[in-house]
Amino acid sequence: MMINSIYTHREIFLRELISNASDAIDKTYYKGLNDSSVSFEKENYFIKLSIDKDNRTLTLSDTGIGMSKEDMEENLGVIAKSGSLAFKKDNEIKDGYDIIGQFGVGFYSAFMVAENVTVLSRTQESDQGYKWESQGADGYTIEPATKETVGTDIILKIKENTEDENYDEYIEEYRIKSIIKKYSDFIRYPIKMDITQS
Ligand code: ADP
Ligand code: MG
Repeated sequence: MMINSIYTHREIFLRELISNASDAIDKTYYKGLNDSSVSFEKENYFIKLSIDKDNRTLTLSDTGIGMSKEDMEENLGVIAKSGSLAFKKDNEIKDGYDIIGQFGVGFYSAFMVAENVTVLSRTQESDQGYKWESQGADGYTIEPATKETVGTDIILKIKENTEDENYDEYIEEYRIKSIIKKYSDFIRYPIKMDITQS
């Protein structure tokens, strides 16, 4: 798949997903500047990483703008389609502002470490959430799902180790922390962590 040639270091999937989460929060912030019905209280906006070792999942949650079913179809289903670039154009946000995304290839880097990716998301405009799910190259499904809060959860089912490749590190707290430190230190929203293990 194309993702393998774009990225030499697998660990950068986390940088990509964290930058998407930060972009999603920035979008809520920009929306609030133009829409007085949206209030932006900084303490309500954060990124949370949860590790569930028993289920081999790494989940990234954000309290950002969320995605509708159409947003999922347009932006997650298609490589090289950047909803963030479109957002910057629509809102006349010039280069140099904070929104990072523009190439529309970051999200797919999740499949370098995950055998299955589930995206659960809800926007402010609707009480209905949606669940997008994919194993990578062979397409995706979208169905209605319950989500209590506005924002997005990206749930990565981390691959099993093989003889040559180690994936266990992506459910190790110290490793995740060091990847965040390396690539995502500049992110302006708090990144919280939550570990579950029986
Ligand atoms: P880019 O960030 O360069 O636009 P990505 O492949 O990283 O491309 O993401 C594709 C698009 O999917 C984003 O532009 C955005 O529209 C949407 N998206 C991805 N993650 C999130 C998220 N956490 N919240 C809201 N939208 C998201
Ligand atoms: Mg991105």
